[in-house]
Order: sequence, then structure tokens, then C-alpha cells
Amino acid sequence: MTPHRPPSTQTIRVDLHTHTRWSPDASLRPAELVRRARDAGLDRIAVTDHGEIDGALEARTLAPDLVIVGEEIRCRGRTELIGLFLSERIPMGLPMEEVVDRIRDQDGVVYAPHPYAYPYRPGWHLRRAIAVADVVEVFNARAFLTVWNRTADSAARAQALPRAASSDAHFPSEIGRAHTEMAAFTSACGFLAAMRKARPVGLRLTHPGAHVVSLSMKAARLAAAASRRLADDGRRTVPASG
Ligand SMILES: [Zn+2]
Repeated sequence: MTPHRPPSTQTIRVDLHTHTRWSPDASLRPAELVRRARDAGLDRIAVTDHGEIDGALEARTLAPDLVIVGEEIRCRGRTELIGLFLSERIPMGLPMEEVVDRIRDQDGVVYAPHPYAYPYRPGWHLRRAIAVADVVEVFNARAFLTVWNRTADSAARAQALPRAASSDAHFPSEIGRAHTEMAAFTSACGFLAAMRKARPVGLRLTHPGAHVVSLSMKAARLAAAASRRLADDGRRTVPASG
């Protein structure tokens, strides 16, 4: 029989970077994300949509014991940060320092997602999120070039920063492909304390084709929105008959 462990020493499995369909490039309804996360054996997940927290709030209403409300925020210069334990949405496009201030004003945690990945993006900014982070994502399951995660891991170790692994799941099959094992926590403060002894595990890369599906989904949604706008404009400019 497995001996009972008190909550303070219980090790849990946490995925700190997941998306719902509130992100333009992801498919999961909040309820489906919750169900799939439990099926994958995760004890906690952070829901971190691009520039939105409504999906995360909905997921937390469904599963307050599971969900941490977060947001993946693109800062001015295109550096990305994730705020964890948020209560309010933070707008995209603000200077990185202001995003950090807004996360901390909410008693949140600054998480640096895939800090060395995707350097081919136009306008990619050399200022690393790692410089302001409380926790560094040293394994992102979608960061398909090994060197990106390896460099993040070296940088986090060099600065003795807490290290996490996350799935960055946009689709059901991605959930839990990477996660972090750590002591149970009940607050942002407890989370940060537990992160000091956390262990990135799982570490299974997602097929790079997931990016193609995400980009196609985003393009289709943008096209649908543009088409709706054009139809609305057309209705407004047609003179009333009779
Ligand atoms: Zn993401």
C-alpha cells in the first residue's frame, strides 16, 4: 500500500503553458482542455492564451483546483512573456518593462516562454525575456530545434533561475507532452517557493506540423473576420430601398 503523503511534500505534475480556442491558433474549448488535462494525469495547468484571459477564467470556473489563470503577452519588439496567477488581461504591444510591472501589480509570476525559439520572426528582438523572468521555460514541446531549448536551459542554469517544461499545447494531442514536477502549492508565493526544487520532465517534442495547423487555423479565422467586416461594410453602404 502506498504510504499517505501530507500535501506539503506531495509531488504534482504541472503544465504551465496551454491554449484554448480563445487563442486564434488553437482549437480546444476550455471544458475540453480541462478534461484532457485530467486524462493526461496533470494536477495543475496554466491556461495562457495569446492576449486573452477569458478562456482561462472559464476553465478555472470549471476546475478551480486545476487551473491557473495566465496570459501569453507579446510585448513591444515581439518578445513574449507569460503572466501567471493573473486576475486582469494585459494588453499586447506594451514595453516589456511595463508588462512585467503589470504582472507584478497583480501579484503574478513572470514566466519566460521559449526564450530562444523562433529567431526568424520579422522584427525579432534581441532583448531576452529571461532577463526579467521568475521562471524560465527550458523545454517547450513546440520548440522543434533542439538548440532552442538547450540554450534556454543553459541560460537558466547560469543564472540559477527556476526551470520548467511545458507543452504549449494548442491541440488535444499536445497536452502534457512536457510538464514540470514540483511540490503542491496553493498561491503564487507558494508556487515560486516550490519552483526552486522543481524538475522539468516529459520532454517529448510535438511534431513541427502542429505549427502549420496553427498557422492555417489563424489564417482561416482572420479571413472569416475580414469577410464579416466586408459584408457589414457592404450592408451599411447599400442605400435603403423604397
Ligand atoms: Zn504559447
